[in-house]
Amino acid sequence: MKTPAKRIYNSASVPQEDCVFCKIVSGKLPSYKVYEDDRHIAFLDINPFSVGHTLVTPKRHGETLWDMDDHEIAEIFKVASKVSMGVVAAMNADGFRLMQNNGEAANQAVAHIHVHVIPNKMEDKGKFMNRLKLSGDEMAKVADSIKSEIAKIE
Ligand code: AMP
Ligand code: ZN
Repeated sequence: MKTPAKRIYNSASVPQEDCVFCKIVSGKLPSYKVYEDDRHIAFLDINPFSVGHTLVTPKRHGETLWDMDDHEIAEIFKVASKVSMGVVAAMNADGFRLMQNNGEAANQAVAHIHVHVIPNKMEDKGKFMNRLKLSGDEMAKVADSIKSEIAKIE
């Protein structure tokens, strides 16, 4: 890990025991989980930009990319790549976007590192994406189909 010249300000910063994503990791809060390994989990975003929008997060708490060492950074993007294959297959999407926000200025709302995996269809091209709200049943169905597509990937 390198020592940054500057800290990144985030008003969403909370003590680790209050961190929403740590609570999801420990199972204290529910989530629509699609993937898990020793060091990561992936679950549906509750307020998705598109159906299938998934968040990949390390189990170890850290606020921004700068709190991860080079190996952890490589690993989370490898997991995000694998998750993207399941998301695109399950949603029959044509492309996907990875997004990773660091700090308040970048609109980071949850101060626990995460990578957004956002599937896109051809008709989304050039369009501004609004947040969606799916029912619990729809979320569960989407999570199941992503989970089973990821399970097919080597
Ligand atoms: P960011 O702006 O990069 O910090 O993104 C945080 C994301 O987490 C947003 O897209 C939220 O919709 C999402 N989010 C917040 N709380 C939860 C939760 N309990 N379960 C799933 N997604 C969440
Ligand atoms: Zn956390």
